[in-house]
Amino acid sequence: MTDPRPRLSDRDRKRLFRLHNRTCHICGQPIDGVRQAWDIEHVIPRNLLGRHADTDDNMKPAHKSCHREKSKVDAGNLAEANRREDRHIGVHQPKQPVPPGKPLPAGQPARRATEPLTKQLPPRRALYVPEPRR
Ligand SMILES: [Zn+2]
Repeated sequence: MTDPRPRLSDRDRKRLFRLHNRTCHICGQPIDGVRQAWDIEHVIPRNLLGRHADTDDNMKPAHKSCHREKSKVDAGNLAEANRREDRHIGVHQPKQPVPPGKPLPAGQPARRATEPLTKQLPPRRALYVPEPRR
């Protein structure tokens, strides 16, 4: 997932800024475009969706400071997701084979299926029970 990140033109920044009501999607406060630095930011990180993240719904304005804080959280979540995926698909190969466990001690098995049941079974019941008529 290493799609090149396209640089937004000034025209697209302006369009997205207006489309999303000049509001920071992270803190919900209006953005003063003159006094406050702002970015167009991916709501769902581009690292997760690749080029599919580059939609108007997923690209919203945010204060630079809000964006910075969100990116830290996103990076941590992404790293955790990658570690989980690695464990899930077994990426890491152990240098030594996993040692086999100890064999079970010889003796009687704890439970034998061939012994007759001593406990009384509950009475059988029909699977289909017609509803009483009203
Ligand atoms: Zn903000």
